[in-house]
Amino acid sequence: MSDPLANAAEGPGAEERRCAVLLPLPLAGAFDYLVPPGLELEEGAVVQVPLGGRDSLGVVWGPGGEGTAKRLKAVRARLGETAIPEISRRFVEWVADYVMAPPGAVLRMLLSSSGLSQAEKPRRAWRLAKEGAARAEALRMTDARRRLLALAEDGLARSLTAFAEEAGAGTGAVKGLIEAGVLEEVRLPALSWPRLDPGRPGPALSAQQQAAADRLAAGVGGGFAVTLLDGVTGSGKTEVYLEAVAAALAAGRQVLVLLPEIALSAQLLDRFAARFGARPAAWHSELGQGQRRRAWRAVLEGRLSLVVGARSALFLPFRDLGLIVVDEEHEAAFKQEDGVHYHARDMAVARGQLGGIPVILASATPSLESLTNAAAGRYGVERLPQRHGSALLPKAELIDMRRHRPPPIEGLGQSWLSPPLRSAIAETLAQGGQALLFLNRRGYAPLTLCRACGHRLQCRNCSAWMVEHRLAGRLQCHHCGDWMRLPQRCPECDAEDSLAACGPGVERLAEEAAALFPEARRAVFSSDLLAGPGEAAALLRAIADRKIDLLIGTQLVAKGHHFPDLTLVGVVDGDLGLNGGDPRAGERSFQLLQQVAGRAGRAERPGRALVQTFDPGHPVMQALGQQNRDAFLAAESRNRRLGGLPPFGRQIALIVSAPSADRADAACALLSRAAPRHDDVRIWGPAPAPLPVLRGRHRRRFLVQGPRGRRLQGLVRAWLKDLRVPAEVRVAIDVDPQSFL
Ligand code: ADP
Ligand code: ZN
Repeated sequence: MSDPLANAAEGPGAEERRCAVLLPLPLAGAFDYLVPPGLELEEGAVVQVPLGGRDSLGVVWGPGGEGTAKRLKAVRARLGETAIPEISRRFVEWVADYVMAPPGAVLRMLLSSSGLSQAEKPRRAWRLAKEGAARAEALRMTDARRRLLALAEDGLARSLTAFAEEAGAGTGAVKGLIEAGVLEEVRLPALSWPRLDPGRPGPALSAQQQAAADRLAAGVGGGFAVTLLDGVTGSGKTEVYLEAVAAALAAGRQVLVLLPEIALSAQLLDRFAARFGARPAAWHSELGQGQRRRAWRAVLEGRLSLVVGARSALFLPFRDLGLIVVDEEHEAAFKQEDGVHYHARDMAVARGQLGGIPVILASATPSLESLTNAAAGRYGVERLPQRHGSALLPKAELIDMRRHRPPPIEGLGQSWLSPPLRSAIAETLAQGGQALLFLNRRGYAPLTLCRACGHRLQCRNCSAWMVEHRLAGRLQCHHCGDWMRLPQRCPECDAEDSLAACGPGVERLAEEAAALFPEARRAVFSSDLLAGPGEAAALLRAIADRKIDLLIGTQLVAKGHHFPDLTLVGVVDGDLGLNGGDPRAGERSFQLLQQVAGRAGRAERPGRALVQTFDPGHPVMQALGQQNRDAFLAAESRNRRLGGLPPFGRQIALIVSAPSADRADAACALLSRAAPRHDDVRIWGPAPAPLPVLRGRHRRRFLVQGPRGRRLQGLVRAWLKDLRVPAEVRVAIDVDPQSFL
């Protein structure tokens, strides 16, 4: 890399060297700073710079401008010796340009957990000093001290707590021995990451798996290529892509595996550990700051070779990334919907292209986007149409709810389980099988209504109903998080005991299950009822160990878990995801239900999947009932092509929001007046968003739609360039929107 400061140094004098520093803030561009004499700064160096009376992190982005600006501030210090690699900086710029965010906002994601501003905490440890035993003789002996001395005799270094725990003594006793010079401190190097061993053998693969694995492994080192690994649940996709991961590790490259829901992937991390002899680094929001900093730094310095992470892991400063795997590539969770709007799967493909490395997209229910790219030859495909071993994919049986009304239950009233589903559960339990009831709705009831006046309890900040969470004793808004205690009286008419819960959530379903199947050991699997990944992992283990007979769960259970004894899946409301104006509603619903049904019968036992629906003729239901994915996707493609919708067209959404409806409308009027006119681009809107008020802000949407080959960003940029709206009005840009709320 050329020295960006070389020219500057020949300028007005060595003390006048400048550099441009990009700050992790949503500002227009990089700022110039002076480089103090003696400080060496190449592009990518992480620096600390003064900014408005405070210090900020920043990254040297290039040579300073030629301008004659006076009173430039000077860089305070350089942080760390390793610069952010060029590829990471180019990626920041590429993403910023594509998603139409300021580069600094993207840089912020890259620097969010940089461990560079703090020195890594040294690990402290102690061992028996040379004259320790002699010094101990001068001390008053207690039992605890005796035990500690006996333990220390092996000469090994231990932390304070390790000494205390192993000797069964208090940390006070250990400190006493340290003060008396019996134990001496030893300096330990910073923790290194366990070495992964890509040479360990995986399971013997079937011929089909092996062929796919060989091709994927051969692609490592061969430049940019995207391969869609399309295989039914349980077909061994993970085993297959692990071979490609092994090949990249063996070549000494770094590997990133992206997952939609890392907090729940303990099982998968165990499989990585079994395959490579050590656990890879996990990267997700539940990780402690210290762990994140350590991992970030190790990735930058190339000491960490395998990261399994949520979407934000894409912005880690990999030195030498050789392969990216996106598992469950169809998942909507890869799209970040606040701050910088980006789709991690799409950005992973872009990162692969920038870095000239292969990308593997794995799914049992690939997105129409990826399938279309594969059909057009832009992506390669590996298919695994069979489940591993004897496991059979269950065929979904549709239950027509217009004919099979659930009879009310004494003491509870309304019920949501139809007679055929009830008998299937009873039968499964009687045979010692495990059953799952799936309902993608957290809480007890989605709506609370006053029987006296008809008032519906609504969120103060959003146009949304308050959802009852009976176990927590509250009503909660699922959009802004606002909550209140369950009131005794109607807030509108003051009638007492008049509030009624309408519709089911998983908590209510659990109540019904308890009434119908009192002997079954039951559990509810829902994010709000689990206090973090540890608890989720414990529950998953309890299910796998057959300690649960009847599981009631939200979409959390659909995500790649392996339950060997689960033989029945009951989908309580198959129609739930089908309404609403989202162009991907049908596709999403199909994917989710297919994944849920795929939970049944993963091992030797055959499985059944029952889907309750009021619309058995719906294409999604038909596709599930006949297990005909191709027919469904063909029909879905046809419709999207006709409508010019993604993946056959491109979209950018603008979401205008303001503290009042008037002000939102005024801003929209300005935008409408300036709207560009092109023959091949349509602009819809402004229209009130389906959620017209969110977190107290009134929202309107524009949707820009153009043909697939058209970059819409330039057009939108030009449209917004001269827009002057009051500061209280926000215009959020969502390129390739996935959510239309
Ligand atoms: P997918 O990722 O497609 O759902 P997995 O890779 O998780 O499939 O495989 C499903 C189950 O079958 C896992 O328990 C896995 O260990 C097992 N399995 C898959 N292929 C093999 C194989 N060749 N030998 C042994 N077990 C396998
Ligand atoms: Zn709300």
